[in-house]
Amino acid sequence: MGKVAVGAAVVCAATACAVAALVVRQRMRTTSKWARAEAILRELEDKCSTPIGKLRQVADAMTVEMHAGLASEGGSKLKMLISYVDNLPTGNEKGLFYALDLGGTNFRVLRVQLGGKEGRVVKQEAEEVSIPPHLMVGSSHELFDFIAAELAKFVASEGENYHLSFGRQRELGFTFSFPVRQTSIASGTLIKWTKGFSIEDTVGEDVVGELTKAMERQGLDMRVTALVNDTIGTLAGGRYYDSDVVIAVILGTGTNAAYVERAQSIPKWHGLLPKSGEMVINMEWGNFRSSHLPLTEYDQALDVESLNPGEQIFEKLISGMYLGDIVRRVLWKMAEEAAFFGDTVPPKLEVPFILRTPVMSAMHHDTSTDLRVVGTKLKEIFGISNTSLRTRKAVVEVCDIIARRGARLAAAGMVGILKKQGRDAPASAGEKQRTVIAMDGGLYEHYTIFSKCLESTLSEMLGEEVSKTIVVTHANDGSGIGASLLAASHSQYLEVEES
Ligand code: ADP
Ligand code: MG
Repeated sequence: MGKVAVGAAVVCAATACAVAALVVRQRMRTTSKWARAEAILRELEDKCSTPIGKLRQVADAMTVEMHAGLASEGGSKLKMLISYVDNLPTGNEKGLFYALDLGGTNFRVLRVQLGGKEGRVVKQEAEEVSIPPHLMVGSSHELFDFIAAELAKFVASEGENYHLSFGRQRELGFTFSFPVRQTSIASGTLIKWTKGFSIEDTVGEDVVGELTKAMERQGLDMRVTALVNDTIGTLAGGRYYDSDVVIAVILGTGTNAAYVERAQSIPKWHGLLPKSGEMVINMEWGNFRSSHLPLTEYDQALDVESLNPGEQIFEKLISGMYLGDIVRRVLWKMAEEAAFFGDTVPPKLEVPFILRTPVMSAMHHDTSTDLRVVGTKLKEIFGISNTSLRTRKAVVEVCDIIARRGARLAAAGMVGILKKQGRDAPASAGEKQRTVIAMDGGLYEHYTIFSKCLESTLSEMLGEEVSKTIVVTHANDGSGIGASLLAASHSQYLEVEES
């Protein structure tokens, strides 16, 4: 063999070796990528697990906190606010009533003609108006003037088939979904603005007073007879259609629950006992926390970086504002520690709240065999293209773990309320028990896997016999109509009618 030939053979052998080594290294890297990703997933699954025993502890803790919050002001993370709603709609309400729903970037106005037991909702109309952004950070005078002017326009468009009894003032139910310290059914002072509103001169003021003054400035003769939030509105709306509704739960951007309490069992209730013996309690349950909640490193990081660290821990586990971001944090860790999406970490994985819950939900509900939707969303949201089916399956698994944990914890919270009401056990012999829970909010309405899981967890926790007595219903936009019904059931003319 000549020198050249020997050289060539050596080069060839070396190349072959190098290629082989590269292939082996690549394969090892791939295996370790999957092994590491698998380890992260299994740890997530473990830390998020909610076996029935744990859920019972969460439900018990909820019941305990409810007692504590009712016993004294500040006695619990649960505010357990007295709503002053002691007259839920019965179905007998009659007349023309208005509602105004303010709780975000839009507000809604609504009118309804109620025809009593027979006529029910004879006619209703609603309109949605978006709030110009500059008014969300201006003065209260301007904001309330705008709202009152829109309301006045809406009243002016009242058609012929709406009838106000002779000599009466129009009455309004005001759904105001910001934290309010209620002082009566139709008055309350604003604790703080949230959701992008920042209007200094209203904090500490009576919001009904502000609205009333603005209505007067617009020449609108109307009286606010009920001030509530969306959860109370949903409870009232649900109750109008079904007298067994005793709990309302909102699962939307945020979360909250309200329920009917026996007035005697509210120690901090210093007023007169309401005639009905019942009082609706606004739990503000988003702020619930307990050592039994399965919190992970992802939840801790989300909380620390949030606008309200240490607060609304339950909300951060179960509501629409946060679920998508928890998923993003897990995917980010998989990218960093397992090179799950390639050798470099896709930078968009680091952007807070870039993965919204509706997108998470769309990926989770992808039924195509090749998980096409997951592939498209990863590309659209994070700029991650050419994912393998195996990768997409892992992404769905993350969504599944996070959504199921949220849904199961929400169910446990609901069992806590049922326990407080004594409705978590079979009724005593001869008694017929039926409990209806009115649900609303975009998360509950649109995230089917979430709501199905919530309902099956309720059955799992309550057992077959009790489950048969519990009905979960979707009170579609109960809060809008609910406020007008509360305006009716707390009408200034009620005494006149009763006598
Ligand atoms: P809000 O709670 O702001 O009053 P909604 O009750 O309409 O409003 O809820 C909106 C929230 O519901 C969104 O912020 C989102 O988190 C959640 N959501 C809306 N659509 C979906 C969907 N398709 N899948 C999952 N969650 C959804
Ligand atoms: Mg809402």
